[in-house]
Amino acid sequence: MSISPPIVDARSIVKTYDTGVVQVAALRGVDLTLARGEMVAIMGPSGCGKTTLLNCLSGLDSIDEGEILIEGTSLSEMSDRERTDYRARHMGFVFQFYNLMPVLSAVENVELPLLIARESARSARSRALDALELVGLRHRAEHVPDELSGGERQRVTIARSLVNDPAIVWADEPTGDLDSENAQDIVALMRQLNIERGLSFLIVTHDISVGRKTDRIVRMLDGMVVEEQQLLEVEHVLTGHAA
Ligand code: ADP
Ligand code: MG
Repeated sequence: MSISPPIVDARSIVKTYDTGVVQVAALRGVDLTLARGEMVAIMGPSGCGKTTLLNCLSGLDSIDEGEILIEGTSLSEMSDRERTDYRARHMGFVFQFYNLMPVLSAVENVELPLLIARESARSARSRALDALELVGLRHRAEHVPDELSGGERQRVTIARSLVNDPAIVWADEPTGDLDSENAQDIVALMRQLNIERGLSFLIVTHDISVGRKTDRIVRMLDGMVVEEQQLLEVEHVLTGHAA
């Protein structure tokens, strides 16, 4: 039996921003592994490096030291074009503030990544409608973002992140702009997609009630990973304290 490599394997990641005036050590030696099909939350105070880590792991930003293997392939050994191509074909992205194009309908927003990847209009439309169906918004396909609620807009964003059938979805504060009920709906949707489609999720969140729905919580402080908790242990510890 062959064991597939972790979807993400990051070793000793160092990232320093040089603003010209000051140097900010945003990541100071981060190790992180994410198995295929795993759903992990990254938590920690504002400014501790969560977004930087997500941007580096997904190849959106470069690192100064360390190595990042994605499905066994080093990001640094890919050319810019290969990295861009890999992102377009195997990764999905969800951000806090939707990033939907206001003049495009839901289905047009969702099909955009496919059109950019030069898929035919017909096939892109059909896959976009399938993705909207998956998130329960097929009936809103023709609505523009302004005509949708916050929770619906975030569902459209999730549909867009899924449309290329990625192996992993990166989500930076996906529920940050939602009330707690909508936040729970969104994390439940991500969990459903994780289980039904084997999709890996790396979710940056401030919200412990979102974190608790994942498999593992990785806590960061000051550019470093300071703690990792398997969810069952988290539940166990909480129960233990309550008893
Ligand atoms: P988080 O997402 O946990 O709030 P970030 O990864 O955004 O944290 O930021 C980590 C640190 O890096 C912070 O001190 C932040 O001010 C700094 N930082 C983030 N982006 C930049 C940038 N483009 N230039 C300079 N410093 C940055
Ligand atoms: Mg951030």
